[in-house]
Amino acid sequence: MILGTGGTIAGRILGTGGTIAGRADSDAPGYKSGVLNVDALVRTAPEIRNIADVSAEQIANIGSQDMNDSVWLALARRIAELRAADNVAGVVITHGTDTMEETAFFLDLLFPSGAPIILTGSVRRSDAMSADGPANLRDAVVLASAPEARNRGAMVTMSGQIHTARAVRKGHIEDLDALSSGAMGLAGRFVAGKPTIFRAPRPGGLPDFDVTSLVALPKVGIVFGHANLEPGTIRYFAEEGYVGLILAGVGNGNASEAVLSTLADVSAGGLWVVRASRVDIGFVTRNIEVEDDAMKFAVSVDLSPQKARILTQLAGALESRQIAA
Ligand code: GLU
Repeated sequence: MILGTGGTIAGRILGTGGTIAGRADSDAPGYKSGVLNVDALVRTAPEIRNIADVSAEQIANIGSQDMNDSVWLALARRIAELRAADNVAGVVITHGTDTMEETAFFLDLLFPSGAPIILTGSVRRSDAMSADGPANLRDAVVLASAPEARNRGAMVTMSGQIHTARAVRKGHIEDLDALSSGAMGLAGRFVAGKPTIFRAPRPGGLPDFDVTSLVALPKVGIVFGHANLEPGTIRYFAEEGYVGLILAGVGNGNASEAVLSTLADVSAGGLWVVRASRVDIGFVTRNIEVEDDAMKFAVSVDLSPQKARILTQLAGALESRQIAA
C-alpha cells in the first residue's frame, strides 16, 4: 500500500504481527495477536502521511512467540533489498514485544550501519481503549526518517523511549513501559515529538552480514540453570544436531560441578558452549569461578542467553560456510 505524499522521505513498514495488530473477538479478557493486516494497522496512525512517503508490506502476521528463523531470514532478505534501493531512507518493523529484542538483535548483527531499522509494537491491542500502537508507530516512522538514526543498526522505540538492540529487553509483562534497557540505559527519548539520541553513532559503511543465500540457521539451544539441574538434559543438544548450547547459568553464568563437567564433555565433542546468566543485569566474566580456558567455554559478557543464542547461530552459519564472511 502506498500512503500519502506529505513527506519527502521514503520508508517501508514491514508488518510481522504482535499485539499492535491484535484484536479481541468479544468482551472476554483474551485477544489474538497478529489479526489486523499491516495496511489496516498503518491506517490507525494517519499522521504518518505528514512525516514520510511510506508504503507497507506484510512479512508475517503472528504473535511474536511464534517468531522463527524462517521469518527472520525473510525479513533480512527484504531489508537487504530495500536498503539496496537508494530511495529507501529507513525501515520500520511492527512486531510483538515477546521476542522483539531477539529480532532487533538479529537484524542489528546483520545491518550494523546505514539506513535505520526501527522496531515497534504495543502493549495494548489495536482495538483497546487508549491503544498505544498508533503513537508508537508514528514515533517509529519519525525515527526511521531521522538522519541522526543512521549508522546505529536496529533500534526499538515504544512509549517514547528509544533502545539499542543490544540493551533492549522485555522487562515487564503488562506495563506500558514493557521494554527496558536495563543497566545500559536508554539510547534516547522522544522530546516534544522529536527523537533525541544520547549516544554516538557507529562509523558509517560497516559491511552487512549477508544471509540472503541461507534457508535456515543452525540450531542453538538454551539450558536454564537452577538448583538440582540434571546434567543429562545437556546431552540432548549434542545428540540432536545442535551446533551450540547456551547455559543461562546462576549468578556469573555458573552451574554445579556435574553440569559443568558435562558441558566440558559436550564442548570437547564439538558443541559450542557459551556461559550466560539467568540474572538480568551484570557481566559474565571468564575464569572467575569456572575454568573457561580449560573447559573451552565462551562467555556472553552482557548478552542475555536469548541474544547469545542468536550470535552463536550466526557464528555457526559462518563456520559451516553457509554464509560468506
Ligand atoms: N504474545 C504477544 C506478542 O509478542 C504479546 C506481546 C505483544 O505483542 O506486546 O506478539
